[in-house]
Amino acid sequence: MRQDIPNDALLQLIGKQINLPSPPAVAVKILKTVQNRECSLEDLEKIIAADPALTGKMLRIANSAFYSLPKEVGNIGRALSILGTNVIKNIALSFVIAGDMRGEDNVFFNFDYFWRRSVTAAVAAELVTGLLQKKDDDIFVTALLQDIGVLTLYLCKGNEYVAALKKRTSGKETDLIQAEREIFRFDHQQLGYILLESWGIPETITMPMRFHHDPENAPKMFQHTSRVLNVANLLSTSCNSTEISGYVRELQTRMHEYFAVTPEQTWELLDDVARKSIDILNIFEIDPGQMKTYSQILQEANEELGKLNLTYEQLVLELTEAKKKSEMFARELHDANSRLEQLAFRDGLTNLYNHRYFQEILKNELSRARRYHHPLCLIMFDIDFFKNVNDTFGHPAGDQVLINLANAVSAAIRPSDIVARYGGEEFVVILPETNQTGMKVFAERLRRCVAAITTVFQNNQIKVTISSGGVLFSPEDDRITAQQLIDIADRGLYMSKKNGRNRVTLLPIDTTDH
Ligand code: GH3
Ligand code: MG
Ligand code: MG
Repeated sequence: MRQDIPNDALLQLIGKQINLPSPPAVAVKILKTVQNRECSLEDLEKIIAADPALTGKMLRIANSAFYSLPKEVGNIGRALSILGTNVIKNIALSFVIAGDMRGEDNVFFNFDYFWRRSVTAAVAAELVTGLLQKKDDDIFVTALLQDIGVLTLYLCKGNEYVAALKKRTSGKETDLIQAEREIFRFDHQQLGYILLESWGIPETITMPMRFHHDPENAPKMFQHTSRVLNVANLLSTSCNSTEISGYVRELQTRMHEYFAVTPEQTWELLDDVARKSIDILNIFEIDPGQMKTYSQILQEANEELGKLNLTYEQLVLELTEAKKKSEMFARELHDANSRLEQLAFRDGLTNLYNHRYFQEILKNELSRARRYHHPLCLIMFDIDFFKNVNDTFGHPAGDQVLINLANAVSAAIRPSDIVARYGGEEFVVILPETNQTGMKVFAERLRRCVAAITTVFQNNQIKVTISSGGVLFSPEDDRITAQQLIDIADRGLYMSKKNGRNRVTLLPIDTTDH
């Protein structure tokens, strides 16, 4: 897992594929103030005090058991003088970034879960440095943001990234890194590093993040912190997983290998992480989910056992049976989920995305385009005189034409483009990050690609053409809705039909449309 891409090559590789999001405005102010050598405590205090919600959270965390200060802190000025500029800056950045980088949840990505894992990792990292008695003011924010590359990839490259998430053969993060590299040629560690560098976050934070899954290859001076991040991540996974025991052995081994921490100390640490995280998650306004401390889990298990009153042999037998059953259920559930996904998102004949899912994707892509100021194109097309195909060669022949067309179009698009069956012989293509010229070239290519297909069915050679309509969304069109875009593309399609078929009509967004 050697990381030998030099920074400028990495920046270029990422820059080609991703428009790096800019940091939240308050974060920019905080970073600028702290970088300024003449910055005073009051400057930082002013920025935080200007945001009452942020101030409230800062005071709650300063007064929480996490810092266990001897006296209650009543204002940011006091917090600054007791905890120091660096700690306050880091907490403020943590709140601001975790509050800003959010989006709509869907079946593939849950923002609450992401931030719950990250906050737990941050708490874990802080507790690990405490245990090792190597205080590090930056560790909380470093661990909190270690997976920000994952979030950025999801926010900027939604559908392609979902493909990476699905490609994993297990839930292991090293598998994720592999899948990311196959698709993008970089991984979330490298992206997180480049992103935060571009935000002006210092190397003491960004470098350990870049190696959090691979501390052995981190430059010597960042290796210790990379290792802390690595175990913090595993601690967080254990606390947020229902099968805590699956991770504990690995955690104990790593804690011992990296830091000579005993297995018993690791148990205690796990309990501490779960207990402290619940408090901190509340302050971050994140639902702590099902998090339980390990002692709680043990106690509940013991109570259950007590109720059963079985002999040891019976117990082993029952457990083996139960395990077999649950493995079978897990397999069935997995299969059922795949079938369900197929039914819910895909069209049965062509295997393209179906109408309903297209509507959902278009809305998501539109809000992503808005958020990141990207253009987006929508093309609708319909087969010309398709009724004749059915009437002349029969319905099954028509079906085969639809299948061949779907396969050819799927092969002709980029991984980030989305093609769906809109209805009978009508289709739609979404082209994210594509401008007017790109749309024109693509629509023509699509038209020629379909015209070139020959469907051979029972010794007949069938050829069809398509008429299409397209529309470009540019970020300035701030009020246009997904439905309005569909209507304009449909109008273009109608004009292509009227003007003789087998052609493309691209329409601008008319200001009377919204
Ligand atoms: P136009 O150029 O104006 O679009 O003419 P057209 O014949 O393609 O349009 P029309 O809307 O009159 O007919 C569409 C035909 O598509 C009628 C319908 O039976 C057929 N069709 C819709 N879905 C399917 C399908 O899944 N399989 C088959 N074989 N035919 C389908
Ligand atoms: Mg038609
Ligand atoms: Mg039609």
